[in-house]
Amino acid sequence: MSVNPNRSAARAWVEIDLPAIDRNVGRIKQALPAHVRYVAVVKADAYGHGMPEVATRLLQAGVDSFAVANVAEAARLREIGHDADILLLSPTLPGEMPRALSLGLDVTLNSLDEAKAILAAAAKSGAKAKAHVKVDTGMGRAGVWHERAAELFAFVQASDAFEWRGVYTHFSDADSDAAYTQGQRAIFLRLLELIPVAVRSGLMIHADNSAGLESFSASAPFNAVRVGLMQYGLPPSTGSFLASLRPEPVLSFHARVVLVKDLPAGTAVSYNRTKVLTRPTRVAIVAVGYGDGVPTAASNRGYFLVRGKRCPILGRVTMDQTIVDVTDMAGAAVGDIATILGAQGDDRITVAEFCAWADCIPWEALCTLTQRVQRVYRTDRT
Ligand SMILES: *Cc1c(COP(=O)(O)O)cnc(C)c1O
Repeated sequence: MSVNPNRSAARAWVEIDLPAIDRNVGRIKQALPAHVRYVAVVKADAYGHGMPEVATRLLQAGVDSFAVANVAEAARLREIGHDADILLLSPTLPGEMPRALSLGLDVTLNSLDEAKAILAAAAKSGAKAKAHVKVDTGMGRAGVWHERAAELFAFVQASDAFEWRGVYTHFSDADSDAAYTQGQRAIFLRLLELIPVAVRSGLMIHADNSAGLESFSASAPFNAVRVGLMQYGLPPSTGSFLASLRPEPVLSFHARVVLVKDLPAGTAVSYNRTKVLTRPTRVAIVAVGYGDGVPTAASNRGYFLVRGKRCPILGRVTMDQTIVDVTDMAGAAVGDIATILGAQGDDRITVAEFCAWADCIPWEALCTLTQRVQRVYRTDRT
């Protein structure tokens, strides 16, 4: 994707290529059997891409429903007018339950106590609680520990105040350990046997996040998937079945050069003087820093693209500005675009590369882009 410098007057911005979402969703849907429901994960402001625009586009592209982390995120989705199903992935606090019910959300049940509290809230409101039971099969985070799941299944089944909609688990290591993931699947599949067939046949049964999709089996009872990272164009691991789907990155990240100047050899650059120039150097000051989502871990390690060339970061990344070396480039000037993530000219900085410099994981690189960074949406076909 090329950058149109006239597109934005912002100092720092991310471009969101909405047609790339259409193509990614299309590829993922094509790779899945037709009966499998596509739950689009849009938590954390749609992984930093901007929830309202992205959620709307995802629905247009054919996803079936949404998942978010909490009630506040779900409320935003309802405010923009989406009445699709919304699954809350995290445990719900007692104080949030009335709102979750009034918004018609699908809550996740992670314990008997939580189920009882939701039941009490439902009794007060007169609404049925739409619920998915989450089972911990080896993630060690949310969900009822699998050895105690039977009790929760029985409780939910026995109460008419619940509309039991689904049962699921979550993989901890699907991007790197297939054997462990299969073990989690096996535990989950055995537990499903505890649910009477007549009940089970009406449930959404899901386990797969983007990485789990690599071992998704159409013959298993799974009839839904929860897709995050992949739909934003990043395969969880390279060389996988998913990489072969060729998802396209949706987001690119840019900022303006605000000052260019020459510094003599021996000058110490930025806070704590971690970089001392070994030659006379032309530096460009770029209007982006850790206040925007460039971690200080990238100091003296990462690169920005300016005029299509890789320019090393000099010294510490600061809150509002980052200094790069443009000595070897003709004509770097105020107003030039520095690309932090994405393509410029013939080169591209991938999220994987950025993560290596910034010492983070792809999910983190995307959702630590802060609100100061303007989101610019491209709606045209590219
Ligand atoms: C965030 C999340 C997902 C999506 O994971 P990706 O790796 O981004 O596809 C799926 N399920 C649960 C429970 C999650 O918390």
